[in-house]
Amino acid sequence: MARIAFIGLGHMGGGMAPNLAKAGHDVSAFDLSEEALSRAVERGCAKAGSAAEACKDAEAVVTMLPAGKHVTEVYRSAVFGSAPASAILIDCSTIDIGSARTIEEEAAAKGYAMVDAPVSGGIAAAEGGTLTFMVGGSPQAFERARPILEQMGKAVIHAGGPGAGQAAKICNNMLLGATMAATCETFVLAQKLGLDPQTFFDISSKASGQSWSMTSYCPVPDVGPETPADRDYEGGFAAALMLKDLKLAMEAAQQTGAYTPMGGEAEELYQRFVDRGGGSRDFSALIKMIDDSWKVSE
Ligand code: NAD
Repeated sequence: MARIAFIGLGHMGGGMAPNLAKAGHDVSAFDLSEEALSRAVERGCAKAGSAAEACKDAEAVVTMLPAGKHVTEVYRSAVFGSAPASAILIDCSTIDIGSARTIEEEAAAKGYAMVDAPVSGGIAAAEGGTLTFMVGGSPQAFERARPILEQMGKAVIHAGGPGAGQAAKICNNMLLGATMAATCETFVLAQKLGLDPQTFFDISSKASGQSWSMTSYCPVPDVGPETPADRDYEGGFAAALMLKDLKLAMEAAQQTGAYTPMGGEAEELYQRFVDRGGGSRDFSALIKMIDDSWKVSE
């Protein structure tokens, strides 16, 4: 069992760190929020007084922070120099590819092995230890990170070199944002054409229009398997986080010169939805903005 530093105990890290402790690791945890830190301590982690203190003597460091600026700040000010050079550094946050590559280069220059390992799956998967990790880094660094990630997830996939985990994550979520937007508008049109939503689901989920957004996460209440739509769009994957990922994808598209018109449309739609106050609703609630005849309460 390993000594693991875990920094960032919010919605996601607050579920992930206790899973490492449950697996028998010595988890030294830190968060700027006392409340988040106390919850992790109640669930088997040890309290560290600072991020640097958590990293002392660590064999592995795991971070789960909001965005690139937090990751850069934490690694530069607390991880580098505090964690032994033999530690494997694992950043599970979703951040821009540029920051991920820069910090991994800085880690390598200081003699650390590091991977970017963003996740697919939300708070429930973080709690249940069923996340999917997309990992960027050298094959050697991947092999060192894998056994730790396996204790927090159901799948750990090597995506390629530094930054490739972040690249896979934003490409996947751009596709998800675009298919969800298309699924929402399609159900609205189907209804206006007089089709029963369940009947249309039965047809399209077995025809060429099928996608995960339809068959596993249908945005229409009482249609398909149980989804956030059946809980008035509470819980699930917040629209604000989908917008964050779409913005990262558009930034990457601009930097690489990739033409991504569908991703751009999805970003605009989610921006409007968030501006209208929908940021905390599940991202499938977009259907409400496209046509509010679905009668979702405000
Ligand atoms: P969150 O805001 O709930 O948690 C982030 C935590 O980091 C907070 O508790 C905050 O206090 C802490 N933090 C910030 N700066 C810190 C610092 N300098 N030192 C120590 N702690 C610090 O966010 P979250 O929902 O847990 O998401 C974390 C990451 O996972 C994000 O990058 C997000 O995009 C990604 N993600 C989230 C979900 C989801 O459903 N919530 C799903 C997939 C990926």
